[in-house]
Amino acid sequence: MLLPHGLIIQVLTDAGCSAQLQHSVRSLLDEHRYLSVFKALAWLRSVPSFPNTQIVIALLDGLLPNWTDLRLWEPRISRITQFEQVGFTKEQKEKLGGLLSLEGPDDVTKSEVSLGQVKVEQRQRTSSSLSSQQTDATLDLLCRTQKVGPSAVDLFIHLRLHDTFDLDAFSMVKTATKWLDDLRCLDLRMLLVASQDSDSVSHQMNGFIKTLPSLQTVIPRCLNEPILVRSIEQVENVMNKAQRVFNKSLETGSGRHMGMLIHALGDVILKATSIHTVVSSHLISSIRRFPSYDSLKPVFERIRTSPRQYSVEECRFKSYLASTLGGRPVAFDSSITATTIQAEITFWKHQPDTARKDLAHAVESINAVSYSQYTSWLLVMLREDDQFIREVREIMINGMENRILRLANYLSLRRKFNLMRDETWLLLFASLINDPGPTYLENMAKSITAHAWLEFVTNLPSLVDSIRGHLPEFGVGLTHEQLSWWEALGRKKGAVQMLLRDQDQTLNPTWLYFTQHQRKIQGLLDILANQDESHSNYGKVLIFLSAEGGNVLDICDCVNALSTTSSFGHAVFARQILRALSGHGRKVSRDGLKYFIQLWTREDGPLTSGNKKSLLSLESILRLPTSIPPSVPATLRDYLKEEYTELIARGGELEKLRLKLHQSNPNLVGTILNRQKIENNTRAGRVSTTVPEDMADAVECIGPNEFEVAFPLTGLNDIHRAAKGISPDARLLIIRILIRPRSTPGVATSFCIHFEPSQKPVRTHMPWHCSSGRSPDGATCTTRPTLFTYVLSRLVDSILQTPSLQIKKIHVAVSDLISTPPDTCLVCMADMGVRLWKPATCSRNCSISLRSASLEVRLHNLLIDPKAIDLLLTSVYGAATEPQASQLLPFCPVPLTSIKLVIDSMPSMRSLATVTDLRVSIQGTDAHGKNREALLSWLCLRFRGFMLSVPDGFKVPSLGLNAEQFLIPNSNPGKEKAFKAHYKPSTGSTVVFHGTRASRLFPILSEGLQIAKSGTAMQVHGAAHGEGVYCGHDPATSWGFSTTTGPSWSQSALKNMHVLLGCELAPASAPTHGSIHVITDESRLVVRYVFLLPPSFQPPIRNHVESAMMAGFASLRTGLQS
Ligand SMILES: [Zn+2]
Ligand SMILES: [Zn+2]
Repeated sequence: MLLPHGLIIQVLTDAGCSAQLQHSVRSLLDEHRYLSVFKALAWLRSVPSFPNTQIVIALLDGLLPNWTDLRLWEPRISRITQFEQVGFTKEQKEKLGGLLSLEGPDDVTKSEVSLGQVKVEQRQRTSSSLSSQQTDATLDLLCRTQKVGPSAVDLFIHLRLHDTFDLDAFSMVKTATKWLDDLRCLDLRMLLVASQDSDSVSHQMNGFIKTLPSLQTVIPRCLNEPILVRSIEQVENVMNKAQRVFNKSLETGSGRHMGMLIHALGDVILKATSIHTVVSSHLISSIRRFPSYDSLKPVFERIRTSPRQYSVEECRFKSYLASTLGGRPVAFDSSITATTIQAEITFWKHQPDTARKDLAHAVESINAVSYSQYTSWLLVMLREDDQFIREVREIMINGMENRILRLANYLSLRRKFNLMRDETWLLLFASLINDPGPTYLENMAKSITAHAWLEFVTNLPSLVDSIRGHLPEFGVGLTHEQLSWWEALGRKKGAVQMLLRDQDQTLNPTWLYFTQHQRKIQGLLDILANQDESHSNYGKVLIFLSAEGGNVLDICDCVNALSTTSSFGHAVFARQILRALSGHGRKVSRDGLKYFIQLWTREDGPLTSGNKKSLLSLESILRLPTSIPPSVPATLRDYLKEEYTELIARGGELEKLRLKLHQSNPNLVGTILNRQKIENNTRAGRVSTTVPEDMADAVECIGPNEFEVAFPLTGLNDIHRAAKGISPDARLLIIRILIRPRSTPGVATSFCIHFEPSQKPVRTHMPWHCSSGRSPDGATCTTRPTLFTYVLSRLVDSILQTPSLQIKKIHVAVSDLISTPPDTCLVCMADMGVRLWKPATCSRNCSISLRSASLEVRLHNLLIDPKAIDLLLTSVYGAATEPQASQLLPFCPVPLTSIKLVIDSMPSMRSLATVTDLRVSIQGTDAHGKNREALLSWLCLRFRGFMLSVPDGFKVPSLGLNAEQFLIPNSNPGKEKAFKAHYKPSTGSTVVFHGTRASRLFPILSEGLQIAKSGTAMQVHGAAHGEGVYCGHDPATSWGFSTTTGPSWSQSALKNMHVLLGCELAPASAPTHGSIHVITDESRLVVRYVFLLPPSFQPPIRNHVESAMMAGFASLRTGLQS
């Protein structure tokens, strides 16, 4: 070492040592092989302690000019050791270069221990902006990544794109080195790359597809890394981008490649459940709608092999893909699903025959057929019989017009034989109906015949019954609501028929089948169904149903109202209907009808509010005018007159008919009338008493030799009761008989009479003791004596007195007395030769015997009908003032001069009829008592006929409410007997009228109308047409001869009335002189009616009274038949 150092340097330089050293240090530094450099130059640190330092320094300056920097350099040994021992790839080194340099010596300021320690602003050579601290941390992080593996380093590099980290990236790497192995780091980097928009979409997808499955398990640990989250979020954008590309490629091709990628990506996303919290739920749910991989393949295949390129809108498969894989909003039939698509593909794969293909195309074009319905039907069609397919094809393709009708018939027929049972046929049928719109069926109904429609709509509910669950609940078209309605109509066939009877048969009743008022009409049908079809009001209301059913609600209301209307209300209603129609009468004008209804529905009118309701509803059905012209009431009077005439004529005809029928077979007629719900008002019909065949039923043994024999009285009608003297309330007659055997002389057989229900209870019986030579005039314990008990007790007495007593004989005789009209004398029981209503006496002697009967028996007629006796008294009162009074009132027990006085002292007849003791009441306390009793007794006995205020069923209605009418069921027996000889059914009888004075009434009624001999009291008017009784053919003719009763007696109820007689003339004959009958044989004539009429009376025409009177005559005759 004694050589001058200049020389050494020279030698070393010449030998190239200096350059070589410098180069090798440089290249090591450039390659960042800091450990090698550091080791090689470690000795530099001890240079200052060398001997001959000057020389060494000089030497070093020559050899390694930057040796001072290197001597200062203090890298982190652990780091540079790892860097160099693990190593970086060349590529990594290139990318890390700047960063690694910071670990190298400070060649800038030459004063720091490493370049990283140089202040950022003093660093010129490197672009790194890391502070010395950051440098350290970054390099430490690099160390950590290198420990994980090269992929971790790459991840580090990837995230440190511009020589710098942001905090997120730093954190990401840190987390990665903590949790991930090197392979996962690779995946993570790929994921980050895939999320970068700069990549192509399929690359991006592939990146996600590749990495998501492997990262799936580690992602949860990294989920607080914003970078990772942002990357995962990108998967949705990538999917959207892919779907856009896919949808676009579908337009021109099958889009298979992209479609499969989308499917794969979706699959990966679905499986990577750890990212589901990051991506949107919309993405997940749209992926869930993706078809399965298996079903996807044939779809792409079908698109690929399709004969021509369809657009997405045209091609169901493409639209299916677009709506699933393509993520397009579902604008298509939602029933296009993987399964349904699969079904269709199955069908086409099967290579169907032409019929099936045609049918498939035909059905495919029906919008209402959903895709799922279509495809399941396709599968059914594959299995169906070839012949059926051909037939259905024929219906579907060739019969567009009425294919629904034809298909319905066809399916009904096949299904009847248990063929084509698959419901898809019915579903197809239902869709076919609903396809053209909700009003299709209604339009169809209008276009086909009524028969075809009714058949169709009747069968429809049962045809589609099994698919009802698939039909809509409400609304028009084929719905539950409609079907139920049609079924309801089917169940009420009769009522529907009533409803449609007067409808225009050429129009289908669509208003009924497609109504919105089902509930109301149902109510209407219910009411109609419960009506007898013949109940005219319901049927007639329906006549007003308009052809299009426009007023059906009004009809409903009206029928409803009618269903709660009384029979009187119905009758009034029926009359208005008749007036509204031309019917039997003339049609009344609408104004007139309105007026009638107004009258009936007046507030104070006779109808109940319920009854008025039906009339008011009729008014609204007929849409009657709201106001009435003032002229209407006047014109209606004429109308009413004519209507009345027609009614009377009709009533007469009907009555004639009824009687004719009744005479031929009363029982049958009764049954028929009953069945027709017509009241059988043959008042004087034959009495029917049923005598029990077994006597034991009628006879009760109540003690030794003591019997009670019972007779039912229920078969007696009112007139019979009145005529005989049996109380209207009596239901049972009981005769109590006590027979004394002949062995006990001195005690007679006895009996008494009771009625049930009885007027008072029996305390002690007061029987009549039968002993020869005496006749009872009543044997009543608990009832007042009457004409009946008088006759009865005499009858029983006479039988009990016969030697061989038989209870049976009594039974037969009394039964006969009750049930048959009397034809024997009430006193002596001799045959009268004529049947009567009221029993009468046969001779003067018997009449004299009767005078000793009790007062009740004699005044029978007064008790039965006080007004009739008032009439007789009125007549006697009038006669008493006449000059010929003695002729008019023969045998009168009261002096003519005091008759009026006596009569005026009488109480009213009505009050007498109800007193408890008749005799006491008549006798009174004044001086006329005896005369009153004598006069009344004479009056009643002298008038041997039977007269009473006209009963219902005999009234002549046309005479008005103010007329007093009396009926004379029978005149005196002689008169009746003579008249009977003239009457034969073949020649019949007729009605005539006779007007007279009240004063002539008593002789007329007791003796009958007689030919007035000239100069007698009975002749009032001249005999213009010779001798005879003059009668009018019309009431008006006789009215002229009628005079008033005047003020009459004081208590009379019959003051100031005109007297008109209604007579029966037999045989029937025409008037002899104009409207006058001059009757020369007075026995042809009998008085049946006495009419007392007010002075203002307008006599009706004959027609209006004739039939009622004829009916009365006939009823009287019938009542006397035995
Ligand atoms: Zn008694
Ligand atoms: Zn007699």
